[in-house]
Amino acid sequence: MKQLDGQVALITGAAHPAGIGFAIARALLAAGAAVTIVDLGQDACEAAADRLSSALAGEGTEHVAPLALAADVRDRDALERVVAATLARFGRLDILVSNAGIAQPRKVMDISADDWSATLDVNLRGMLNLTQAALPHLSDGGRIVAIASIAAQRGGGLLGGPHYAASKGGVLSLAKSMAREFGPRGIRVNCVNPGVIITGMNATAFDEATKRRLLDQIPLGRFGTPKDVADVCLFLASPQSGYLTGTAIDINGGMHIH
Ligand code: NAD
Repeated sequence: MKQLDGQVALITGAAHPAGIGFAIARALLAAGAAVTIVDLGQDACEAAADRLSSALAGEGTEHVAPLALAADVRDRDALERVVAATLARFGRLDILVSNAGIAQPRKVMDISADDWSATLDVNLRGMLNLTQAALPHLSDGGRIVAIASIAAQRGGGLLGGPHYAASKGGVLSLAKSMAREFGPRGIRVNCVNPGVIITGMNATAFDEATKRRLLDQIPLGRFGTPKDVADVCLFLASPQSGYLTGTAIDINGGMHIH
């Protein structure tokens, strides 16, 4: 019997094979969950689902074939369709992972109205949209895991600009309110704060000198991997974290100790 046997998870922003969402999908699938992969393009979602199935089959890990569905997290109606399709395929919904996000390098005076709207709408409203679309169908005892960021804690300064940091601060705050409100149904809401994790979002963003400067600030002496984040998300989605709600776990190699 695996940790998440019989459980159903929906993960946004899970199609990029080098991304955090993809790694979370892999971890949850390997733990026995059925998973719906949501991202911007149907082809990308299907390619991710195929890739996950092949990788798990290749290592002999039994799993449920993932469902691949395109949706923009800014579009609440699209997310309602994703939830309906998930219920039609798997019969229930237990775990939401709000992972879809964008980051733009900007300084305060360079943030346009469009930059602000895009960043806040994907990173923060996307989490609200996902929750509102799914909550009526989420099982009692369900779990919501949201990907915030070290940027929310230390005032950005890495890849995303101040509007990115503010959006992630909003994620932390929204998650706490949700934890309070949904607790009576046994629904737990927690966040993670990744530090510098090498993914598609930032793989080419830092030159060698910047990488060395950043590594000097990380006591564990390495950047994070998507699996580092996925392992903690699996914990937050599993019964092992049963008395945690309204918390945020730092995953930063010690880059921000507070
Ligand atoms: P990524 O770019 O690889 O993944 C983000 C995914 O979100 C992509 O697949 C993208 O297509 C999808 N996406 C973007 N806009 C969307 C939308 N409107 N609707 C649906 N999907 C959308 O980046 P990543 O580094 O894996 O980031 C995953 C999450 O982790 C993000 O929320 C990011 O802010 C957060 N994060 C990343 C780091 C890091 O160092 N990489 C650090 C802290 C937090």
